Amino acid sequence: MPKATETTLEINLNALTHNFTYLKSKLQPGVKLMGVVKAFAYGSDSVVIAKKLEQLKIDYLAVAYASEGVVLRDAGIKSPILVLHPQTVNFNKIVDRCLEPGIYSPLMLKRFIAFAESLNLQDYPIHIKINTGMNRIGFAPEEASSITEILKQTTAVKVKSIFSHLAASEDVANKAFAERQIKLFQKTSDDLISELGYAPLRHTLNTSGILNFPEAQFDMVRSGIGLYGFGNDANENKNLEPVASLKTIISQIHHIKKGESVGYNFGFIAPKDSVTATLPLGHADGIHRGYGKGKGFVTIKGEKAPMIGNICMDMLMVDITDIDCNEGDEVLVFGKSTTAEEFAETINSISYEVITAISQRVKRIVID
Ligand SMILES: *Cc1c(COP(=O)(O)O)cnc(C)c1O
Repeated sequence: MPKATETTLEINLNALTHNFTYLKSKLQPGVKLMGVVKAFAYGSDSVVIAKKLEQLKIDYLAVAYASEGVVLRDAGIKSPILVLHPQTVNFNKIVDRCLEPGIYSPLMLKRFIAFAESLNLQDYPIHIKINTGMNRIGFAPEEASSITEILKQTTAVKVKSIFSHLAASEDVANKAFAERQIKLFQKTSDDLISELGYAPLRHTLNTSGILNFPEAQFDMVRSGIGLYGFGNDANENKNLEPVASLKTIISQIHHIKKGESVGYNFGFIAPKDSVTATLPLGHADGIHRGYGKGKGFVTIKGEKAPMIGNICMDMLMVDITDIDCNEGDEVLVFGKSTTAEEFAETINSISYEVITAISQRVKRIVID
């Protein structure tokens, strides 16, 4: 690995391949895998990740919003793409780029059918989202029969899949809740299928679901965080490899006298003569202000250097009093040795938030 010479997010495609293979090994024969590449593929690079997943023969891709799917199509991605949370204003984009909407409400279903009919579309693929207890988006199970009534009156759309989402698939203490959701999904989708007269794919598991509810894989599973190297569980994390590593360098070193302050609003007052390093990384790069004042840390020469004072927009300062290092030296923020999950824990956050927060300003390099 070349040493970082500026702030860099390394995207390791060998790690992605490893995670893909591991997750596939957890699937029953014939179960399809949908790769979730929303939010710039969890803060990395959606095009790079989607291309690699296509090489690995992923069955399906998913994004949250239509614009994310447009970026993939413009880059030549050919796989079917489910848009998990579309808005009606983007139906044009969706159809124009052969994206497949996740339909989650009666209003949206009617509007999408009207739109599809106005273009004389036939059997346009849509996905029906059922709310089995998360209460975020989706049709209520009681609405299932009204959905089929509407669907039977048109040939403009065809249901490609029926899906739901578990509210706490990583939480083994609340397994019963997920099991109730799975049962409700089974029943609601059974009813839908028998009324529709054909069998769309069914899927309800995210990464933790794949690992914790192997009996509920149905026809397909959806993985995001697992592909990027996290299993929401210390044991599972050992089987996965983080795809993204955030590195930076030391811009400048300062020798501070006891009682001097560092940064905006005297966020740090040196309790003793101290040495500090300034890094070209700030809250505009995705390092939340919550990491300041000693909570977050980086690793320099294998040693932890706490973030001191307030995180600035483009810089942050760390205490290197006890670390033998120089200007220009490489700094690890998160990656393999300190994972994004460990980094997140310092401010009670989660790996998802840390990796998706890395802003577009940070240079990406791809390792394959
Ligand atoms: C983001 C998302 C996923 C992926 O979840 P992971 O925990 O990252 O595997 C799956 N399904 C839906 C509906 C999502 O919004």
